[in-house]
Amino acid sequence: MRCGVLALQGDWAAHLAVLDRLGTAGLAVRSAADLAAVEALVLPGGESTAMLRLMEAERLDERIADRIDHGMPVLATCAGVILLARRCEPDQPSLDRLDVDVARNAFGRQVHSRVATVELAAALGPPPRLDGVFIRAPRILRAGPGVEVLGRLDGEPVLLRQGGILAATFHPELTGDLRVHRMLVDRGAHDGR
Ligand code: GLN
Repeated sequence: MRCGVLALQGDWAAHLAVLDRLGTAGLAVRSAADLAAVEALVLPGGESTAMLRLMEAERLDERIADRIDHGMPVLATCAGVILLARRCEPDQPSLDRLDVDVARNAFGRQVHSRVATVELAAALGPPPRLDGVFIRAPRILRAGPGVEVLGRLDGEPVLLRQGGILAATFHPELTGDLRVHRMLVDRGAHDGR
């Protein structure tokens, strides 16, 4: 199983380092050909508006949406969640593959970025919490009935799953806790069998 990381902008390199620690082959995805070479994909944090613009050249937005429709497992973090959301505030285009509405930068400015304890569902394995790094994170305003909440911060959903999509409004690539990435990799290995 080869796992891609969308590498147009943002903190994609940190995700490749995590995949390496998990012993999973990673690939920086910048083109349609790169995307065709991977079985799973990480949409990293960064600036969703910039990523949307950069995806246009090779129509990567449409291609990624199409791969998701055909079952490709995805881990979206922070800006990546905004890319997949049904709707976002302020309004901007999206791939519309995750049934959530989000508010961008809803936890305040860069100075309000922080590490906070996320309460985890049993599906992630022990311990039942992890340190979440929140950097100008989006807030989930609504999650549809098909969306399972796997992690909460102060009661609010911050880690979600819908089919093959895992979505974290925090940055699991910035701590040593590999469980969120492992969930993606396990899913990719399982689907590829
Ligand atoms: N503020 C960014 C956005 O709106 C997301 C921040 C992040 O990915 N760390 O796209």
